[in-house]
Amino acid sequence: MSILAGPPQGDAAKNTEPRQRRTKVTPFPGKGAGGMAELSPAARTFAARLIRWHKHHGRHDLPWQNTADPYLVWLSEIMLQQTQVATVIPYYLRFLERFPQLADLAAAPVAEVMALWSGLGYYARARNLHACAKIVAYQHGGHFPRDPARIAQLPGIGRSTANSIATICFGAGAPIMDGNVKRVLCRAFAIEGFPGSSAVEKRLWTLAAELMPARAGSIYNQAQMDLGATVCTRTRPRCDACPLDDICIAHAAGRTAELPTPKPRRTIPQREATLLVLQDGDRVLLETRPPAGIWGGLLSLPELPDGADAQQWAAQRFACRVIAVSPAPTIEHAFSHFRLRIAPLLLQVKPGSAAMEPGLQWLDLAKIESAALPAPVRRILDGIQASGSRPLLSRKR
Ligand code: SF4
Repeated sequence: MSILAGPPQGDAAKNTEPRQRRTKVTPFPGKGAGGMAELSPAARTFAARLIRWHKHHGRHDLPWQNTADPYLVWLSEIMLQQTQVATVIPYYLRFLERFPQLADLAAAPVAEVMALWSGLGYYARARNLHACAKIVAYQHGGHFPRDPARIAQLPGIGRSTANSIATICFGAGAPIMDGNVKRVLCRAFAIEGFPGSSAVEKRLWTLAAELMPARAGSIYNQAQMDLGATVCTRTRPRCDACPLDDICIAHAAGRTAELPTPKPRRTIPQREATLLVLQDGDRVLLETRPPAGIWGGLLSLPELPDGADAQQWAAQRFACRVIAVSPAPTIEHAFSHFRLRIAPLLLQVKPGSAAMEPGLQWLDLAKIESAALPAPVRRILDGIQASGSRPLLSRKR
């Protein structure tokens, strides 16, 4: 069976605002309607504290800030999902250089979008980005809907992203819920349980809605993310620089290392795959992955089926004559749900005259840099070229 078929950042911020007097607080003194405890008077200052803190200590100069253009905001929101700011910045700038307007992205071939996204990971985001651009361009007249619920119906946009876009661009005042926000809420209000579980996440959304201020929602949402990224960090939070230090339960109880509750441990399966590097002179054979699944829509090296003989299989499937075979160094790659050990096998071949299957293409090695390749495949090809391994590097024909 085919194997393949199947985080906080930012500048350190120093809070130099005068410290408020430490008072012992209980943010949830009693039960309110709907099962959520009522917020204490101290906890009701949560939003105002963050908004004040953000003025001097938040991040204000990221390339996607200081704009309410839905296209720019949406693009950054999608790229920032599960990806650090420093990683996103060059991709964001390259995308805007190539696709300055939503219409440019909608009109582009999906292969070009995938190529520009190559290396950023979580490739379903790129496919959905393109699909979303087309829908907004051709079904919504080029304008994003203003209502968060309608934005959330677009491909690749969840509740938090929709709320963020609607709040930044249209003043919706809707809460967000990313990893940074969850961490701050879990610590400040001592929310027990893994925040990725549906029960805890539901509770967090309820709390977030109660905390949402009537005004300055966009600044407040950004402040939560900035606090989580720069002060209330995963390890060693800087509580002495935090505007919540005198209302934060985890800090008061010495439980910052315990909260948020970690994900329950599970063993990550290890899988193996052999990828074939078929080389004909200065070109290699690549196949387009199916749109859904691992590396969907990207170009990849063919995977050798379990138990198959590489030479025979390559000769049959690609109608070519195999001249030489040699192994390349094994590489490891971590997916979210398994680890993959890839053993590349280099085959020097002479293609026959039979027509190629759809989805297969010979790519010149000089064009690999700009091709839509998943990171591990790029590593294999880069490694082979860098090491001068034969047969791939035998550039003389
Ligand atoms: S006081 Fe510490 S643990 Fe609590 S929110 Fe601030 S940085 Fe996080």
